[in-house]
Amino acid sequence: MEELDMDEEVRPEFPCPYCYEDHAVASLCAHLEEEHPFEPHAAVSVDTPADLIGAVFAFFRWVERMKFVLRFVWLIWELSSC
Ligand SMILES: [Zn+2]
Repeated sequence: MEELDMDEEVRPEFPCPYCYEDHAVASLCAHLEEEHPFEPHAAVSVDTPADLIGAVFAFFRWVERMKFVLRFVWLIWELSSC
């Protein structure tokens, strides 16, 4: 029987964005919560590929918000320095 080989599931691994350790999707989520609790997307739980896509979109929304905030801060700073 060669079923043992077939049962071996290929688990894609993703590097942690903060310390570059490789983790499976589920353990990366746990790792982020345990090791990097203060990072922006630590609270996002990634269980399925759809969650992963959602997390990526949430991250880009966060980046867009930060760009908006930075532009606003820069504008205030620019106005106050005149
Ligand atoms: Zn890490």
